[in-house]
Amino acid sequence: MPIDATLAYDDSNIFARILRGEIPAKRVYEDDFALAFHDISPQAPIHVLVIPKGAYVSWDDFSARAPDAEIAGFVRAVGHVAREHGLVAPGYRLLANVGGDAGQEVPHLHVHLFGGRPLGPMLA
Ligand code: C5P
Repeated sequence: MPIDATLAYDDSNIFARILRGEIPAKRVYEDDFALAFHDISPQAPIHVLVIPKGAYVSWDDFSARAPDAEIAGFVRAVGHVAREHGLVAPGYRLLANVGGDAGQEVPHLHVHLFGGRPLGPMLA
């Protein structure tokens, strides 16, 4: 069920629980600003989710409220994960669903990183 991205952050969501270590995830990277882990239902040979450590519902919430240092740290972390997976030369795709029309399911900002095969045209 897609979320309402205008609602306040609720720290009982599954990615908040992964951040707190309450449930497992296949972690691939962590720093002060971000955590990255394999998507549980991968849609490409490499499908990693990168999430900020701060409490933000969506890209909208993050871009409106996050301090500049958190935004910079998160963006750098996404780039770092892509480089660490060797994806720059072959190419990769980033995706952030926001709210109902995009089908966002988890109310903690996450950027999907897809790679490892030709990804085809963007679906709109
Ligand atoms: O962008 P959206 O909210 O639809 O994506 C949520 C993603 O979180 C899905 O790709 C789903 O497979 C993933 N997920 C996960 N681990 C969980 C729950 C969901 O990787 N425990």
